Amino acid sequence: MGTYIVKAFGTEAPEAALKQMNIDRREVTEKDVEIDILYCGVCHSDLHTARNEWHGTLYPNVPGHEIVGRITKAGNGVTKFKAGDLAAVGCMVDSCRECEQCRKGSEQYCEKGNIQTYNGRDKHLNRQTFGGYSERVVVDEDFVLRVPENLELSAVAPLLCAGITTWSPLKHWNAGPGMKVGIVGIGGLGHMGVKLAKAMGAYVVVLTTSPSKADDAKRLGADEVILSTDKAQMKAAANTLHFIVDCVSAQHDVNAYLKLLKVDGTLALVGAPEHPLPVAPFSLIPARKNFAGSTIGSIAETQEMLDFCGKHNITADIELIRIQDINNAYDRLLKGDVKYRFVIDMSSLKN
Ligand code: NAP
Ligand code: ZN
Ligand code: ZN
Repeated sequence: MGTYIVKAFGTEAPEAALKQMNIDRREVTEKDVEIDILYCGVCHSDLHTARNEWHGTLYPNVPGHEIVGRITKAGNGVTKFKAGDLAAVGCMVDSCRECEQCRKGSEQYCEKGNIQTYNGRDKHLNRQTFGGYSERVVVDEDFVLRVPENLELSAVAPLLCAGITTWSPLKHWNAGPGMKVGIVGIGGLGHMGVKLAKAMGAYVVVLTTSPSKADDAKRLGADEVILSTDKAQMKAAANTLHFIVDCVSAQHDVNAYLKLLKVDGTLALVGAPEHPLPVAPFSLIPARKNFAGSTIGSIAETQEMLDFCGKHNITADIELIRIQDINNAYDRLLKGDVKYRFVIDMSSLKN
């Protein structure tokens, strides 16, 4: 299969800084589109993967799965897009398309594992996939999303992971009027969780370790804010929430948050710290509580979320950076020092 070279930013080893490199992209096949990447969000998963914190990184690694751009080429069999259209790509670029989950349109739960946008296995080139910290990407149109025209494009990028990863559990567990929903960890994912849960009509309770975010949370849409480091505030909130989305990227005590659930309440983990998170039996047993997990969302759900955001004028709060500042952005991400998502202006890679 023919390939061509594009510029990218990536890393060769867990301890190495990200730097400019060349990667190859496949020539568009019948069903592929080529996207000129305009913006790419910086997800904490990029950092976990670049630094091999999940222990499966293939190097070189080019992160980035919050991609928006413009279509530059479309294969002969492409029906949904044409050159010039805006388009977006999230965390997956393919799946087996045959298993029970794929057949029912839950390709994120493909029984063979969905093919991730980076650090997945490219079916065509038989090597790891490379993500959006690059000039261009080539993706099967079935895994490409349409972008609402009325939204600021740079602030749309984070919807492709942070948006869908919080939207999907909120929908699955029926967030809406009459539900008290807690969002833990107000980074990229968490701040989208607050905005989306509020727009769905839920009563939203923010749980943060950062006093400065506590002050800002109501602007994002929170009805109530709890500083989770304050024992008295946590105690007062015991048994009050129906559902919690836990978006924390680092080790933390989930038992402290499980205490806040009512009988039959669920805590859905989307944050994925490196090490196990111990759950005490009596955090669950006395009130039939559920400790669950959720990963991204299907392509159909992602489109539904993007259309909803277009309709309700919802985007991420972002800080635009140049690709050359990515290593500094990772350091700041580790300190929780971002309000609330870094987005790379990919034109900086072209200069
Ligand atoms: P992020 O922007 O770095 O936000 C993480 C937030 O967690 C921080 O802003 C902070 O919020 C909180 N936090 C950090 N350290 C903490 C600690 N020790 N104790 C309590 N809270 C702490 O990260 P993100 O991009 O939103 O990603 C969050 C996690 O979700 C990552 O692990 C990422 O890999 C994972 N993820 C999962 C999926 C999925 O499909 N399941 C998809 C995308 C990302 P406060 O300042 O408010 O406390
Ligand atoms: Zn992500
Ligand atoms: Zn499958």
